[in-house]
Amino acid sequence: MIHRPCRVAGCGASASSRYSAHCSTHKARLRRHGAVDQEGITKAHLKPFLRLVQARITKNRESPLWTHLDARWTALADHARSLLAYRGAMPRYERIAAKEVLKLSDAVPPREIVETTLALFIMHELEPRRFKSDKAFRTQLVRRVRGLTDLNAGSWFDNRSGKSKRAYRELSPRAAAVMGKWLAEAFGGVGLHLAKLEQVEADKRQKEQQAIHASLSQLT
Ligand SMILES: [Zn+2]
Repeated sequence: MIHRPCRVAGCGASASSRYSAHCSTHKARLRRHGAVDQEGITKAHLKPFLRLVQARITKNRESPLWTHLDARWTALADHARSLLAYRGAMPRYERIAAKEVLKLSDAVPPREIVETTLALFIMHELEPRRFKSDKAFRTQLVRRVRGLTDLNAGSWFDNRSGKSKRAYRELSPRAAAVMGKWLAEAFGGVGLHLAKLEQVEADKRQKEQQAIHASLSQLT
């Protein structure tokens, strides 16, 4: 039997099967995270960006934008409901994506979905290197949004640590792609705009800092 090497540079393991280009580790990461070298974005990674979104909402409390965005999520859930009611032929993964959206909309307030999605878009703009591809970004977006409910977590007991652990039930890559597309269509534009505002403010702070340093060096 011939062992082909995993396609990932520097991996060195052999491909998981005759038909696979990757070893089992990289194959699993591609499936779970959307790229062979994509790290999972955790709740902790996302937290500073979530704070930015919440601060922006507080600062613009009177803006009707936020309720519009809540309504967009509700419309997406309605769309999912009508897809599930449809009796005709439809790809299975699309039905699965629709079920996921409904499950979330039953369990999580719209604003939480909106905030998390916007936070991911801001993160994508401000720290682009965190995401290895667009597909990887959307996969992470869907993972974080699904992580807002415990419904997707199955717990198991880890004998080694003696603690109960949680593992999220994975969505198939195709279903995740559909759900990621829906979220991006609903919130991507606003997310980009908010990211630009953050960028402008960060640049301004940096210039002020530089001006202070410059004037300090002039002091006698
Ligand atoms: Zn590998």
